[in-house]
Amino acid sequence: MIFERTNPLTGAVASRAQAMPASDMPAVAARAAAAFPAWAATGPNARRALLMKAAAALEARGDDFVEAMTSEIGATRGWAMFNLNLAASMLREAAALTTQISGEVIPSDKPGCLAMALKEPVGVILGIAPWNAPIILGVRAIAVPLACGNCVILKGSELCPRTHGLIVDAFADAGFPEGVVNYVSNAQEQAADVVGALIDAPEIRRINFTGSTGVGRIIARRAADHLKPCILELGGKAPLIVLEDADLDEAVKAAAFGAFMNQGQICMSTERIILVDAIADAFCDRFAAKVATMPTGDPRQDGAPLGAVVDMRTVTHVNALIADALAKGAVLRSGGPAENVLMPATVIDRVSKGMAIYGDESFGPVVAIIRVRDEEDAVRVANDSDYGLSAAVFTRDAARGLAVARRIRSGICHVNGPTVHDEAQMPFGGVGASGYGRFGGKAGIDSFTELRWITIESQPGHYPI
Ligand code: NAD
Repeated sequence: MIFERTNPLTGAVASRAQAMPASDMPAVAARAAAAFPAWAATGPNARRALLMKAAAALEARGDDFVEAMTSEIGATRGWAMFNLNLAASMLREAAALTTQISGEVIPSDKPGCLAMALKEPVGVILGIAPWNAPIILGVRAIAVPLACGNCVILKGSELCPRTHGLIVDAFADAGFPEGVVNYVSNAQEQAADVVGALIDAPEIRRINFTGSTGVGRIIARRAADHLKPCILELGGKAPLIVLEDADLDEAVKAAAFGAFMNQGQICMSTERIILVDAIADAFCDRFAAKVATMPTGDPRQDGAPLGAVVDMRTVTHVNALIADALAKGAVLRSGGPAENVLMPATVIDRVSKGMAIYGDESFGPVVAIIRVRDEEDAVRVANDSDYGLSAAVFTRDAARGLAVARRIRSGICHVNGPTVHDEAQMPFGGVGASGYGRFGGKAGIDSFTELRWITIESQPGHYPI
């Protein structure tokens, strides 16, 4: 069976992919498990060489990726190229990690006992990636797991099956052995069954999922039945706090980038700009001027900073958030509701608790401005969310910024930088409704290895019985 993904802008067929049924999943898991012993025994430099080749193979397919992302999700060329570069960097970082999967020797109280803590490959790891940053998140789901000696199954998104498929093609170009990197594509209506069958497969030992909080809960529950550990990278509602001593021009640039890059469809997107009263009016004037320079355009014609959103569901959702806020007394500063997937950058001022946009993730090009009395009030509002992925605070006083950052309940916080920031070597992940577990760098090694205690005894044993 084949399913089609349509271009959100034109309605034309963007790609066709295999609609794999749930009944195929045991065979996929078995194929990955069969490849595991040889891959786990492959030396770190051989694994490194293949990961380096995969990075080059990914870059060599740059034009295909740009075309696929533009037609499947309406992304701009800039977003596609950013995805490609960061994903290649993630592969090179994973390659560098292959010789860093070190353990330790721990002093034992038993005479002649050498006690070791070893990090060993886990087995087959399932990675489920969403559409919004498809190359980055597809690669992230499998790169460090592979570096650690695991075989992987990438379950692609129904909204960008070709983009995710190209990642797996690049691994094949690089020469990864049969069965080490596997791909599953499925039709939307079969997602629950396909994912359920994968989680149930005994060969699959761990799961990483990047996607919505709702689906994350479903996956965590199913995995819990089998006591399989998960890493969950879920939704966000990132706050950006601007204090009275901030460099307003820097804060405005970071807020505009963080709110509207990829049309606000990033888990780290700035969803709430929290302004202390002393600078609120000045910030809003400069922010509106900046946003006026950020039009939305057809992503096939290079140039406009904002492209299309992924589907009409996003349009309906964002329009409803705007309407609800305005009906409850908020003030429209820029943009407004849209009739199609080319949505304008929208800024809503004087948002307060009780409006849906105060707490719900928009995952679209709309940002809420919340005015607060002072620093204390700003921290309170920033923490008044179930989510906790990324955050930012702007102040010229770095010590003050650090103190505020440490009071914010989130996995990530940047002082004088945007909420949208990712680098391959950084520990990435959230708290609360944003999930748990960490990708990236050394934290990723802990996530995708089994820590084992192994001893060798070299003296005769003395036993009490
Ligand atoms: P989604 O949760 O709708 O879909 C993700 C995956 O879940 C898809 O592959 C789909 O096949 C699968 N799925 C859907 N229904 C299922 C079910 N009932 N059971 C099992 N699996 C099912 O997410 P999305 O719309 O693709 O992505 C957007 C969301 O992802 C946003 O909330 C965003 O914040 C989040 N996100 C988080 C991060 C992060 O790193 N924290 C990064 C990017 C996106």
